[in-house]
Amino acid sequence: KEEISNDVTPVRWIRINPLRCPGNDVNSVLAELEKKFTQRVDHWKDIVPGCIYHDDFIPNVFGIHPQDKITSHELYRQGKVIIQDRASCFPAHILNPDKNDVIIDACAAPGNKTTHVAAHLLPKCEKGQLTKIYAFEKEPRRAQVLQKMTNIAGCGKAVKINVGDFTKLAIPDQYKDVTGLILDPSCSGSGIFGRKYVDSLNRAKRLQDQEKKHQQNDKEENDLILEEEEQAVASDDPDLQSRLSKLSSFQFQVVKHAMSLPNAKKIVYSTCSVHPEENEKVVIDLLLDRKVQEWGWKVAGRENVIPDWPRRGIKGEFDQVFRKETAKCQELADSCIRALPREDGGIGFFAVCFER
Ligand code: SAM
Repeated sequence: KEEISNDVTPVRWIRINPLRCPGNDVNSVLAELEKKFTQRVDHWKDIVPGCIYHDDFIPNVFGIHPQDKITSHELYRQGKVIIQDRASCFPAHILNPDKNDVIIDACAAPGNKTTHVAAHLLPKCEKGQLTKIYAFEKEPRRAQVLQKMTNIAGCGKAVKINVGDFTKLAIPDQYKDVTGLILDPSCSGSGIFGRKYVDSLNRAKRLQDQEKKHQQNDKEENDLILEEEEQAVASDDPDLQSRLSKLSSFQFQVVKHAMSLPNAKKIVYSTCSVHPEENEKVVIDLLLDRKVQEWGWKVAGRENVIPDWPRRGIKGEFDQVFRKETAKCQELADSCIRALPREDGGIGFFAVCFER
């Protein structure tokens, strides 16, 4: 416990990637994994080196001790095991696409959620099917990382990467068949902590270092974590409020654009921010938008959004707007998911699902 200082992740989350498992069956890989992690614990707080925790909320997700260097394990090198924070696994699990769905991941690099959606969807589809997931990334360098991640994860041709701005996407076009979207736009990254903390001024340098490491094909323990850190947006704006207001209006725009897709029926919006401005308030602005109402979008109820996860949205944020409708505010808050940094075993996170 002493060693879990303020800057260290209390647990390292990993998931087994069915796309790299024989017959998409994770059991043989789990058995391999359990040769290294011989003792199973009932709570992530009890993890010590050599132990494994089977997560109660997300299938195929496990916690191990940060000192156990999973990156030197063969399963990791083969893409059978992927490092991904548990909370970052919420969106694909909530979207839960079925074989007829076509998905857009609108803000995709480095690809944690793209590859996780693929892990949900592709085993349900026939082999060799055409594109099932379109992954957008506006920054070319980050799109290269995304390409690498999808290759390692074994997504094949089912994932098509588009280097470009999702909000500039003309509709309708070939995306008119899209039914579901993952919306994980740039955010303040305020839920990311400790050694994962993003100093935006160092962002460019870190990307370079990271690329060098990739070129050397010498993956250090922190590589993928650093990629996740890059979720935070670079900004030299010293005023937090004005920064949050710029971010939230971008986040609103990008979700609203997704909602204009004619056949979309499910959208999962998420951030790794702890600020209501980027979370509940974006939900409120969308619900109050006339077009969004016209298009028939609603917030999906708690029963479809990891109902047993205890930490939900902040009701007070909804109270401020829908004052007289207490039940509605409770329902909306319950429909959102929050994770607190460290306290909930990983990064701070927010997720909500819209459907129609
Ligand atoms: N979903 C990713 C994952 O789980 O690995 C993390 C995404 S990160 C929070 C946001 C990404 O969206 C960044 O790579 C950023 O460059 C990209 N982005 C921001 N605005 C975009 C836009 N308008 N169109 C496409 N990509 C965008």
